[in-house]
Amino acid sequence: MSITSAIQQIKSELPSTVQLVAVSKFKPASDILEAYRAGQRAFGENRPQELAAKAAELPADIQWHFIGHLQTNKVKQIVPFVHLIHSVDSEHLLECINREAEKAGRKVNVLLELHVAKEESKTGFTPDELDKLAETMASDSPYPFVSVKGVMGMATNTDNEDEWRRCFRLIAAAAHRIENTLAGNAAKPMIISMGMSEDYPVAIEEGSTMVRIGSSIFGARDYSKPFTI
Ligand SMILES: *Cc1c(COP(=O)(O)O)cnc(C)c1O
Repeated sequence: MSITSAIQQIKSELPSTVQLVAVSKFKPASDILEAYRAGQRAFGENRPQELAAKAAELPADIQWHFIGHLQTNKVKQIVPFVHLIHSVDSEHLLECINREAEKAGRKVNVLLELHVAKEESKTGFTPDELDKLAETMASDSPYPFVSVKGVMGMATNTDNEDEWRRCFRLIAAAAHRIENTLAGNAAKPMIISMGMSEDYPVAIEEGSTMVRIGSSIFGARDYSKPFTI
């Protein structure tokens, strides 16, 4: 299936409350342009340098989403233009984004990442840690240049739909709790970023408002090739 028809097909199935982020990591600018011509504007990347290079090359009205683990020394590469960072997985990273956002003279939109999957390799806050962090940001936030728009999470990498559902329920429940804690400071409605190519229909049933879909749009990724535009 072509990129254009994959996008059209997925979009026709998404409820109007769910936004599509097309995950273009490891894919060339020409693929992104094809998706762009099909009307897609939100793209997700997981390496700062690749994101910055693509942003410089491609149309200025693309909204760039950062979805991978972000090292603090790479924050400044993306802060000046990134639309939404999905993967804030530590308070140290939050501090760093806040500092670079102040320098860049803009407020940066972020999602707080939850770790509910079974793999230890995945990163993010536990639900308890997330609740505590939301409390510290509720009234006089120590991170005034960061705007918390919601939460992001991934389900365990398994074929077991019940396990996906367990993860997605925890993520959606955490989003609703921190919406209450942040009260007047919360983005409404909160973004709940969950669901990838394999599991997004289940994520939507459990309350996702933003799905991150890569391989079902662009085909399988080749991780062995070094990145070129
Ligand atoms: C790569 C990636 C995706 C997209 O995965 P697909 O299975 O290709 O849809 C979604 N979210 C994150 C965080 C990713 O790293």
